[in-house]
Amino acid sequence: MADYDLIIVGGGIGGSALAEVMTRAGRKVLLLERSEVYEDRVRGEWIAPWGVAETRRVGLYDRLIAAGGHHITRHITYDETRTPEASETRTLPLGIFLPDVPGPLCLGHPKHCQLLFDAARDAGADARRGIEVISVNPGAAPSVVFRDGEAEVTATARLIVGADGRTSQVREAARITLHQDTPHHWFAGLLVEAAEGWDPTLQAIGTEGDFGFLAFPQGDGRVRVYGGYALDQAQRFRGPDAARRFLDAFAMGCSPANRQLVEGRPAGPLYSYINADAWTDDPTFEGGVLIGDAAGWNDPIIGLGLSITYRDVRLVSDILKASDDWSRAALVPYVEERAERMRRLRHAASITSALDMEFGEAAAERRRSHHERAAADPSLGLHGFVVMAGPEIAPPEFFTPEAKARILGGVHA
Ligand SMILES: Cc1cc2nc3c(=O)[nH]c(=O)nc-3n(C[C@H](O)[C@H](O)[C@H](O)COP(=O)(O)OP(=O)(O)OC[C@H]3O[C@@H](n4cnc5c(N)ncnc54)[C@H](O)[C@@H]3O)c2cc1C
Repeated sequence: MADYDLIIVGGGIGGSALAEVMTRAGRKVLLLERSEVYEDRVRGEWIAPWGVAETRRVGLYDRLIAAGGHHITRHITYDETRTPEASETRTLPLGIFLPDVPGPLCLGHPKHCQLLFDAARDAGADARRGIEVISVNPGAAPSVVFRDGEAEVTATARLIVGADGRTSQVREAARITLHQDTPHHWFAGLLVEAAEGWDPTLQAIGTEGDFGFLAFPQGDGRVRVYGGYALDQAQRFRGPDAARRFLDAFAMGCSPANRQLVEGRPAGPLYSYINADAWTDDPTFEGGVLIGDAAGWNDPIIGLGLSITYRDVRLVSDILKASDDWSRAALVPYVEERAERMRRLRHAASITSALDMEFGEAAAERRRSHHERAAADPSLGLHGFVVMAGPEIAPPEFFTPEAKARILGGVHA
């Protein structure tokens, strides 16, 4: 039997970052991670500028840079309805969104997890790998029973944190319902290496035919690429040579530089996910709280899971550091902020998915019309500012069905 201030289940981005911050604040923390080695599970490797600001606020930014964190400074949206030159004249500088943030930050996910886990251990957390959690027991005196090698251990704490990702065991033990949107499209990701010809300062997205792409360079010729395709194409990138067929789909007339990706080498697994939002009404329970994906996630089309998770870490750690009241009532500011944040990001993601990840003539016409109207009226690109600068950048009236209809121009794909 061992007693801690905090037991954190899940040593991914959220769990390890929170363990580091709370240990540094003088708390006794037990961090339990299931895996022995962090593997590429095709998870977030791009942190939005507002997420970069969150990494600074929790004091972890310098470690990310020291581990090879790579800033991207320019963005281009390509599209089948215009020439590459027309797209390139609209190159967006990415340092405009927040002071002192040169742009989004890219870092390989397994490396990112490992450096945070090591940081938590260096700070003095009891950080353990290869753990099997047997039971999570919420309540006034919460506990976790787990297997560590041959030993079965019962640990108690003032608070249990569920940072154990999408299929959270802690969420299930706390009987918290996960709500999920109707899936919108398939979304697959792959790490590409030997793509030295891709400009390392440039991220790009684009839609052509029945495929939408996103490319985020990480430096050293590596680029994390994602591709979206229709829900009725479940088998499209399955079976032998799937990675090669996936990269071949990046060959697009509207974005000639994609040939650098087509000619690159797969450097990890290709996994496909059904894109949708998921959320919880209240991520707290007696004796605990959920953070990161365990508390609900945003559609990865706008790549904000890491930014969301770092903000969770900041909000929860600020509350826990501020006083010895760790009750559910004390966590209400986190619960309320997160609910509104996720509602806003769900709105921004639904606009982005509709514009970039729907295919066929009507969808192309909608994008053409949107590009034309947004060139004359930048407020029609506000969803992009929300992605980059954060959900609080736009006024409340932006997060309404009327505002969405205005951006989409009333064109139904
Ligand atoms: C295709 C795709 C692309 C994405 N792209 C981006 C992007 O570009 N930018 C971005 O910001 N976000 C992106 N995301 C989202 C981002 O990866 C997640 O939001 C983020 O990883 C959440 O961090 P987390 O710590 O909450 O969970 P996770 O990263 O899932 O970590 C959970 C950890 O808990 C451990 N664990 C699980 N169960 C247990 C258990 N029972 N006991 C002990 N340990 C356990 C796991 O091994 C893991 O280490 C993407 C997601 C997907 C699916």
